[in-house]
Amino acid sequence: MFDALSDRLESAWKKLRGQDKISQSNIQDALREVRRALLEADVNLQVVKDFISEVEARAQGAEVIAGVRPGEQFIKIVYDELVQVMGEENVPLVEAEEQPTIVLMAGLQGTGKTTATAKLALHLRKLDRSCLLVATDVYRPAAIDQLITLGKQIEVPVFELGSDADPVEIARQGVEQAKAQGVNTVIIDTAGRLQIDEDMMAELARIKDTVQPHETLLVVDSMTGQEAANLTRTFHEQIGITGAILTKMDGDSRGGAALSVRQISGAPIKFVGVGEKVEALQPFYPDRMASRILG
Ligand code: GDP
Repeated sequence: MFDALSDRLESAWKKLRGQDKISQSNIQDALREVRRALLEADVNLQVVKDFISEVEARAQGAEVIAGVRPGEQFIKIVYDELVQVMGEENVPLVEAEEQPTIVLMAGLQGTGKTTATAKLALHLRKLDRSCLLVATDVYRPAAIDQLITLGKQIEVPVFELGSDADPVEIARQGVEQAKAQGVNTVIIDTAGRLQIDEDMMAELARIKDTVQPHETLLVVDSMTGQEAANLTRTFHEQIGITGAILTKMDGDSRGGAALSVRQISGAPIKFVGVGEKVEALQPFYPDRMASRILG
């Protein structure tokens, strides 16, 4: 499917043989290959451009280390830069000093938001953090039922007021209940639409203002490709996100969305979804994702 970047760089680096410094002129072919690899991994075009300039700046003037193939040395520079842009370390979910920690889930419909809500609760339960899930997607009664079913499966209670109640009110009461019951973390599932629309954003903003979450997590489908960048920009500008969950990484997506999301919002990706099952959630590790993106 994808040629490994290192193979592709072989020919680009033939030019470098016998040279002892990486310079602007001898680096261009290699940069072009990196650019192609990133675009194939679905990193957003502007993000690729910014990234390439960074790599170029870093690589320029680097001494070619004796005994190390220049291509490999260059890949290391690209890899290190990727890891750095994506945040270097895994950033865990915050835990508020005063219970409950309030987590707001945001994202388009079909991205895996409801599934991720349950996955996150199961993950926290395994860390001995009790949870309450809150169902505010009143536009799709099936979404409320889906959360109730998932809640039963993972033995985590679900707060809901049916599909006639106001989502902001459901969220507010859900948090109140979590407080009253001494629950550690309350996770609020919200309505998604197939596309970003003003009503959805306005409602999300009202829920956020009302419950003042400690985390606002954007759920992004890794298969979204280039669109992940625009999506992130809109949500971040209008709502403000503190982190992201990248779903469907069990598919053949190269994970370029991870770079776009981080570069555009500055917010860390905290988890990746790797399957339909509730157990299929993993912490996000920038180094692993960098290897995957580079192929
Ligand atoms: P929502 O509309 O954003 O709440 O999306 P759902 O949680 O209902 O998920 C939409 C579909 O994606 C469902 O069929 C899920 O089983 C599936 N899904 C969610 N997360 C993942 C994942 O990480 N991997 C795979 N393969 N499927 C997922």
